[in-house]
Amino acid sequence: MTGIDELPVRDELRGKSPYGAPQLDVPVRLNTNENPYPLPEPLVERIAERVRDAARNLNRYPDRDAVQLRSELAKYLTTTGHHPLDARNVWAANGSNEVIQQLLQTFGGPGRTALGFEPSYSMHALIARGTGTGWISGPRGADFTIDLVAAERAIAEHRPDVVFITTPNNPTGNAVPPETVLALYEAAQAAKPSMVVVDEAYIEFSHGDSLLPLLEGRPHLVVSRTMSKAFGAAGLRLGYLAADPAVVDAVQLVRLPYHLSAVTQATALAALEHTDTLLGYVEQLKAERDRLVAELRAIGYEVTESDANFVQFGRFEDTQGAWRRILDNGVLVRDNGVPGWLRVTAGTPEENDAFLDAVRDLKKELDA
Ligand SMILES: *Cc1c(COP(=O)(O)O)cnc(C)c1O
Repeated sequence: MTGIDELPVRDELRGKSPYGAPQLDVPVRLNTNENPYPLPEPLVERIAERVRDAARNLNRYPDRDAVQLRSELAKYLTTTGHHPLDARNVWAANGSNEVIQQLLQTFGGPGRTALGFEPSYSMHALIARGTGTGWISGPRGADFTIDLVAAERAIAEHRPDVVFITTPNNPTGNAVPPETVLALYEAAQAAKPSMVVVDEAYIEFSHGDSLLPLLEGRPHLVVSRTMSKAFGAAGLRLGYLAADPAVVDAVQLVRLPYHLSAVTQATALAALEHTDTLLGYVEQLKAERDRLVAELRAIGYEVTESDANFVQFGRFEDTQGAWRRILDNGVLVRDNGVPGWLRVTAGTPEENDAFLDAVRDLKKELDA
């Protein structure tokens, strides 16, 4: 067998590792921000029904433009995001990772750059690399907020073609105030103009509102969303964006024909019929998230303010060692490579109790 390094792979891929959150078989898995609740049985039945119908036509290619799905997603955004949108404003793909890839294929690419404020979602930089887009690591403050002056300076200096703003941010959990997003949009327009992608993967868990209303009159703004987190459908692989219709037209230049399978479209449509039930879990998870924050602080950990379904806690001198000690107690959390900090996803109350027991023990050990 030959190793990767013996293959004529692109220079920028040499010596790199693929995205790899460990998928370990442990009792309590709180490391990838999934929703812990399986889909409700009536929805499972509805999916089976819709997929059965779709199966009868699998000899044909699916609706290439996924019009019905995009129109249902637009309805969902209009109701929950307080901003009127229709199918022309919405584009869907296999996970928001594919949405982001299509955006970088369209607006980034060789000779162009993208900037994100790190630590943030590691896939932004990885997808940049995969699409030949140069990556610029923009600054965050010690408390993980975006310092506006430093951020504006970075945008003016580097004049990136694409700016990513993740709010609520992953892995830190904190949201970015709308005024900051607006100021960064203005800075990006003055510098280039560039596309500004607001990654709202966790917005349903936020104390605040979606930034969708900011789309009005801002043709270079894109809001990306996913059904992987709040909708509890990570296995479905369905992400989407909302933007000016011109952005939707532009990404069609790079999307593979028939990229969204008929089975995916049918399943997503079924899930959207059950929006209310699915979002019901969100309220439970938000309460559990707030409980994790309070209890972690009571135990004596530092916690970053969270608007997401996960909590960043620390600080550890030996972060990897702490991760391992928690795993030894049967709980898998995430080491995102932020020195001193770990991230835990809000699970079911029982899972969270198991986690809290594990970190209580760990704290005693560390203080001993
Ligand atoms: C989980 C996550 C996504 C979602 O990716 P999918 O491909 O839709 O599963 C996107 N952005 C951020 C910040 C995330 O944490």
